[in-house]
Amino acid sequence: MARAALLLVSLFVLSNCSEPRLSHLEQIQKKGVLTVVTRNSPTTYYEIADGFAGLEYDLVEAFAKSIGVKTEYIVNDNLKEVIDAVNNGDADIAAAGLTVTATRKQLIRFAPSYQTITSKLVFKQGKKWPRNISQLSGDLRVLAHSSYSQALLELKETHQNLHWSETTEHTAEELLMMVLDETIDYTIVDSTELSLNRRFHPELAVGFTIGEPQNLAWAFAPNDDYSLFGKAIEFFGQQKSQGQIANLDEKYYGHVEKFDYVGARRFHQATDSELDAYKEWFVESANQDLDWRLLAAISYQESHWNPKAKSPTGVRGMMMLTLRTAKQVGISNRLDPEQSISGGAKYLRKVMARVPKRIQNPDRTWLALAGYNVGWGHVEDARIITQQQGGNPDKWADVKERLPLLQKSRWYKKTKHGYARGSEPVHYVDNIRRYYDVIVWQDEENISQPPSVIEADPNDSKVAELESSKKTEPNTNSEIVD
Ligand code: GLU
Repeated sequence: MARAALLLVSLFVLSNCSEPRLSHLEQIQKKGVLTVVTRNSPTTYYEIADGFAGLEYDLVEAFAKSIGVKTEYIVNDNLKEVIDAVNNGDADIAAAGLTVTATRKQLIRFAPSYQTITSKLVFKQGKKWPRNISQLSGDLRVLAHSSYSQALLELKETHQNLHWSETTEHTAEELLMMVLDETIDYTIVDSTELSLNRRFHPELAVGFTIGEPQNLAWAFAPNDDYSLFGKAIEFFGQQKSQGQIANLDEKYYGHVEKFDYVGARRFHQATDSELDAYKEWFVESANQDLDWRLLAAISYQESHWNPKAKSPTGVRGMMMLTLRTAKQVGISNRLDPEQSISGGAKYLRKVMARVPKRIQNPDRTWLALAGYNVGWGHVEDARIITQQQGGNPDKWADVKERLPLLQKSRWYKKTKHGYARGSEPVHYVDNIRRYYDVIVWQDEENISQPPSVIEADPNDSKVAELESSKKTEPNTNSEIVD
């Protein structure tokens, strides 16, 4: 009997030794899946024709790859439920554009930050511009449980008349649309969210910035198991040192950081009144291999769709071709819009053909556009400098940083093609990317979220509307709007 008991005890001990408790990371690796809670928004995660996109999505996919697992996404636009999901174990991480705040730090553990934003108070252009918090007079509505609701609570201590409402029924983008249709007077959103939306809606104006710049980061459950969290620290360290974070920032925001209201308005008016007259020629010249919307965006950047445009340097027409280029591509009359567009398309194909084959889109297109503007030889020079400085010559984000060096004698003296006004192609490409985004968005009939990146097949860029759970919850400090 005693021997049998001993045997049982040792079997129990043995079985426990042979199967020690798995760490969080080991459990994920055993399952082969990382479960991520995110929000469905242009700053985080959204569907496109051939998959998904978004800065959070790209980062999460890279992280999952680094630990050798697949991903599974839980989409929830309610910020409280996002945090609850990590805390109750429904998700392994929250990658949801979460702002790091002192209050949240008491609830969750933040990984190293991947982005810095500011909070913008937004009003509609043309209405009275509020320059600070005490000048607000009207309906201010923000996302419930957001960083802004915390910031407003703090401001309320010194501004007793401050009133606002919070909602779990709408996303940040919807709140921006409500400012535009005057359902509300103000909202507060992250600067990134605003930049992406302002391309399409130039009337979204910034009253002022609230508080200091803040960091965005992933959130983890604050327990004793640091196995996954440790991997995330390692991952962000590598991503930063390899320039991947900067590349992602460029991919999603590189072209939208600067905003020019007058220019954006003029462009929107032109797309309404003039684009139709030329669309057929853009489509025809784009043929199967180019995107007509990209040609249209180039043409707007070149001539503002003015077929008679002329510059003092001798370039002319819709695509502002030089006489030499016109000859090269077989164009006899540069002032004829159809000829000019087809000549521009042919020239773009020539430049595209010079971009090394291994370079994928979107970098391929942006590098080619820079070449279209300043000459491929100069882009090559900038790529060489990029390589010498330890950057990646196949990445537009890296080359873009070096192009302006071609204006400095210290640099251009050593290059094959010499001096170039290298900052020009940088603006040129940024502008075209913004125009392109708007044309794509209009072409796809104002779908709820815009594709913000050229993907492998830009003709197919579409955004699906994902279901997200939304619900209303009481808040003692402000009114909740249904
Ligand atoms: N970053 C904000 C927060 O964490 C959410 C708003 C947004 O990203 O649009 O509260």
